[in-house]
Amino acid sequence: MPLRCGIIGLPNVGKTTLFNALSGAAAAAANYPFCTIEPNRGNVPVPDDRLDRLAEACNTPKAIPATIEFVDIAGLVAGASKGEGLGNAFLGHIRQVDALVHVVRCFEEASVTHVEGGVDPRRDIEIIETELLLKDLETVERSAQKAAKQAKGGDKTAKAQEAFCERMAAHLGKGKAARMFAPQREEERAWKRALFLLTSSPVLFVANVNEADLPHGHRHVATIREIAATRATRVVVVCADFEAQLTELNAQDRMEFLRAAGLARPGLDRLISAAYDLLGQITFFTHGPKQSRAWTIEQGTNAQEAAGKIHSDFARGFIRAETIAIDELLRLGSETAAREAGAMRAEGKEYVVRDGDVILFRFNV
Ligand code: GDP
Repeated sequence: MPLRCGIIGLPNVGKTTLFNALSGAAAAAANYPFCTIEPNRGNVPVPDDRLDRLAEACNTPKAIPATIEFVDIAGLVAGASKGEGLGNAFLGHIRQVDALVHVVRCFEEASVTHVEGGVDPRRDIEIIETELLLKDLETVERSAQKAAKQAKGGDKTAKAQEAFCERMAAHLGKGKAARMFAPQREEERAWKRALFLLTSSPVLFVANVNEADLPHGHRHVATIREIAATRATRVVVVCADFEAQLTELNAQDRMEFLRAAGLARPGLDRLISAAYDLLGQITFFTHGPKQSRAWTIEQGTNAQEAAGKIHSDFARGFIRAETIAIDELLRLGSETAAREAGAMRAEGKEYVVRDGDVILFRFNV
């Protein structure tokens, strides 16, 4: 299953425009497998020029990138935790994502109403964060009560769980996200995971600015950067309207359009790459006569588990992983050249796959 990023933010900040631009860009890249799963959910290819270079070096006709699923989550307004707007329904969607992309409006545009009356990124961010925190607090308090009931019967684990929930509630009560609460003991980490808290997922801020502010930013962007620094996260500056227009152009016009706006690459590429980094994922590559392909795995995945990503037979009948770092393969020019130079390593099941490894799995079932 691909990793999932939920796009959140107040109404009229540009979430749907951004989502449509992401879908449009993916659909326009004809070589890539794109699918809109539902109107508000779509798989987006992760740009990686190493894959293109690998396909070229190995003469494979097709390159299949890693993908991330983006979900446009509507309905967050002040009071959402108490059921305002779409309330609880959309909070459920947030629980199912691996990371959040929080879109913050920085563009001034009289014709687009702001639900809170005017553009103010600090206030907007606080509204969203407060709603998520309030809901989490409710979840944790409910869990503490349940554990307390069980603890009355003398259940020691329940007692420890109650104490854990109380510490978590105190943390949230100070306005701090669950992602900043890192329990030491495995048991507590499991309890935390089981709570599916809304503020557990990592967050990336997207500052949605007017096109004119793209090259130099805007004072609102500086505010968001300040806030992001205190959350140990990053800000990607885009103009969602501009990105949506870009997706309607052919490749050449797109380059000219970008150059005229003083940009080297589309904001969407920066956004997708930043989201991928945020998820703590790494990429390994495979290639054959028909296709080169990028695969997403978590840091720390071993060769046998990585093989299982491709097919369960690869993991079951695993013999070895013939491996080379992509930079070395590209330097040597081709896989044949790498083999002749004796540069392919034979790695076993326990080998921890590194970002950029090109792997040929040998298996027997
Ligand atoms: P959502 O409610 O957050 O999904 O917001 P939408 O994507 O529907 O955008 C609301 C309105 O803002 C639409 O009319 C968009 O065209 C407009 N909009 C979105 N992004 C920008 C932008 O970067 N600049 C300007 N000027 N308008 C934008």
